[in-house]
Amino acid sequence: PAAEAEEADLHNIIKDTEKVTGSGEQHSFQAETLKLLDIVAKSLYSDKEVFVRELISNASDALEKLRYLSLTQGGSSELAVPLEIHLGTDLVQGTFTIQDTGVGLTQEEIIENLGTIARSGSKAFLSELDNRGQSSSAASSIIGQFGVGFYSTFMVGDKVQVFTRSHQPDSPGYCWTSDGSGSYELAEAEGVQLGTKIVVHLKKECMQFAREDDIKEIVTKYSNFVNCPIYLNGKRL
Ligand code: ADP
Ligand code: MG
Repeated sequence: PAAEAEEADLHNIIKDTEKVTGSGEQHSFQAETLKLLDIVAKSLYSDKEVFVRELISNASDALEKLRYLSLTQGGSSELAVPLEIHLGTDLVQGTFTIQDTGVGLTQEEIIENLGTIARSGSKAFLSELDNRGQSSSAASSIIGQFGVGFYSTFMVGDKVQVFTRSHQPDSPGYCWTSDGSGSYELAEAEGVQLGTKIVVHLKKECMQFAREDDIKEIVTKYSNFVNCPIYLNGKRL
């Protein structure tokens, strides 16, 4: 077991290397996003585990984008880092973490994509909710159907941090933090690996998502669509 743990540690790229350096700026969410967040936070939707599927699907998209860029934009098509998704659970800290070695986000991309509702799925969700008279039971029944993407993390987390650094040359690292209410904070950070790491600080009643066994079971349900290796606490799934 000691050798196994050492082996797992060797493969685990999730390390606490990030340090916020900038002073951080408050940004408010776009009105439509606020509405979505409010619904998500109040939702009694029971399949909260779908947030894992949403995060893995985003990580997988980010890896595909990088693979595509490396093939189409000059230079060598050899990537410096392997395309991987890493999941981490920490019962002591009460966190679920996902880190990918994908494209990462520039500051503009963060503001564009993590503050607004860019995705068509979330827009469809909101308009379907309008059709159904905005009730919370309607919301719960269509969350699973439409999915709410990245914002689904706020079903289980009371604070979410996104550390990201774009593969675009000379991009600094950033730390995005929000409790899913009115606004998010964005600051420059050092020690951010290329790609994106999302740390979900779990609500007290959602601690099962900080348990390795529970996450393992959820991931095996949802990850057949993923083309790259997934590690959980350093162990290949
Ligand atoms: P969708 O995946 O349908 O676009 P999401 O709400 O799931 O909607 O994600 C919103 C956007 O945030 C994505 O389109 C992408 O631009 C950005 N994003 C989310 N997760 C990542 C990630 N791991 N790496 C890079 N970009 C990401
Ligand atoms: Mg998505």
